[in-house]
Amino acid sequence: MEKRFEGMGVSPGIAVGPAHVREAGTLEVPERHVAKKARPAEAKRLTAAVILARRQIKRLKAQAQKDTVTQEMHFLFDAYLQMLEDSRLVRGAHDLIQGKGLNAEAAVQKTLTGIIHAFQAMDNAYIAARVEDVRDVGNRIIRNLMREPLKPFSQAAPGSIIIADQLSPADTAQLDPARIAGAATALGGAEGHAAIMARALGIPLVLGVPDLADAVSTGAKVIIDGTRGTVIVNPTARTLGVYEQLKVDARKVAERLGHMRTVPAVTRDNVTVALAANLELPIELEMVKRNGAAGIGLLRTEFLYMSRDDTPTEEEQYVALKEIVDAMDGKPVTIRTLDVGGEKPAQGLLGDLGEAAASALGLRGIRLSLKHTKTMDAQLTAILRAACHGPVRILLPMVSTVSEVRQTRDALNRAAQKLKRRKQKVPNPLPPLGVMIEVPAAALAADALAQVSDFFAIGSNDLTMYTLATDRTNEHVAHLFDSLHPAVLRLIQFATSAALRARIPISLCGEIAGDPRYAPLLLGLGLRELSMVPANIPLVKQRIRALDIAAATRRADAIMGQVDPGRIAALLDDFNGLS
Ligand code: PEP
Ligand code: MG
Repeated sequence: MEKRFEGMGVSPGIAVGPAHVREAGTLEVPERHVAKKARPAEAKRLTAAVILARRQIKRLKAQAQKDTVTQEMHFLFDAYLQMLEDSRLVRGAHDLIQGKGLNAEAAVQKTLTGIIHAFQAMDNAYIAARVEDVRDVGNRIIRNLMREPLKPFSQAAPGSIIIADQLSPADTAQLDPARIAGAATALGGAEGHAAIMARALGIPLVLGVPDLADAVSTGAKVIIDGTRGTVIVNPTARTLGVYEQLKVDARKVAERLGHMRTVPAVTRDNVTVALAANLELPIELEMVKRNGAAGIGLLRTEFLYMSRDDTPTEEEQYVALKEIVDAMDGKPVTIRTLDVGGEKPAQGLLGDLGEAAASALGLRGIRLSLKHTKTMDAQLTAILRAACHGPVRILLPMVSTVSEVRQTRDALNRAAQKLKRRKQKVPNPLPPLGVMIEVPAAALAADALAQVSDFFAIGSNDLTMYTLATDRTNEHVAHLFDSLHPAVLRLIQFATSAALRARIPISLCGEIAGDPRYAPLLLGLGLRELSMVPANIPLVKQRIRALDIAAATRRADAIMGQVDPGRIAALLDDFNGLS
């Protein structure tokens, strides 16, 4: 029977395909048959992974003792260690390797699922609470077994619709549009990285659909309408027909926008605006070119660090960055240094500090880089080497003080000296060093930051989050996440004026840059450079070409005189002819 669910459409478009449901907390593991004579070696792999897991948990326990965490945690670690002895989990997995010839990962996964189902059937609250513990231990063994970084959704059929509790940044880094047609999840916010990545890859995505996973099973037909925020399970032939027509209409609109790719981004009164692209993954380069981007205004380098336990070497980073600089063929590339922490997991970088140290208000972005000087040095050196192949700028995330910029400039100079000692080429002059204006402190201290920075890039996603104290990934407060809030707009205006006064370039690269609705306001506030998801460049360009800067500036002035977000939205929509 057809079932409809309403959520939050965060990446537009329509996708139809078979569902691939990921049970919460379950890892996807490859399954293969192991020949009889190879089984002892497979059993040995399992034993080694279990020993490693014991060592990891002992280390966590020692750390917990140092941190004087609760007694309960100590019991928990002891219980985990017990599970790694001759337990039902480990024994069961060994039996499946020897008896059924399953590979170790799949053997652990199958045993784990069996135990979890048995626990769930017991209808006992205490045992139900243990399910997550067993799952945790099992997943740890599986991770240790998979030397290859985990490839989420590798088992999904081509053209699948992913149905999951949540998409982690590592998941989204694996969302290949050639294989994944669309996705819907229970959790997540519109400005979270899952949403950003899906928009960048053109994968329709609906968030905030809590009951979906229970209503659909893998293989069932699903429609995702990322424009309207609707998910339809088991659609009737009539519904399918309606959505096929919507898809055809959307294609026609895209074709009509086609010519926007080649015309300049100039307003009616002849003001030129630079429309650059944000890039999360190298596979988007094709989209960047196809949409006629003036350059890369924000290269998020997190992809280099994702889905692995170690950090990439200088050489690896250089090769990846050079490829992007080369592909842009002389157009500028703004490379942002590592911005993990907050919602983007810092993985191996935190060591004994633990993930909690990198919370949204913790060691995120430049703060983590300045603590991890080796990692930062390797990245800066790789960027300097890549900068020998084309125009590059370096952008620092999460800056809140002048000293962070000074320290990074020192590190950049040291990296340049190191290259000279190695007799390697160094770009001369060194690339401009700029800061993201994405925390209120940076916006309010923009005058001071402008003295030590070569350019600014406003990150309106985080600026909105931190100003409004509204988690960008939390669907419960998604209605409060509003970049048209006067507090956010005043900070954007303040930072823009500071940059213009100091005569340094300023751009805006948060998600609002890619929404044509905001273009008159942003240009009216003095911005002349926007960086966005590449697919939106033609749309924004179309709006800019129909715009008169003088009128937009007057409207921006009127908007800045308002204190009510609703009135601000109304004034903007009226200007856009939307009201
Ligand atoms: C922002 O915060 O607006 C931004 C562009 O950075 P990110 O989305 O990568 O945090
Ligand atoms: Mg940010």
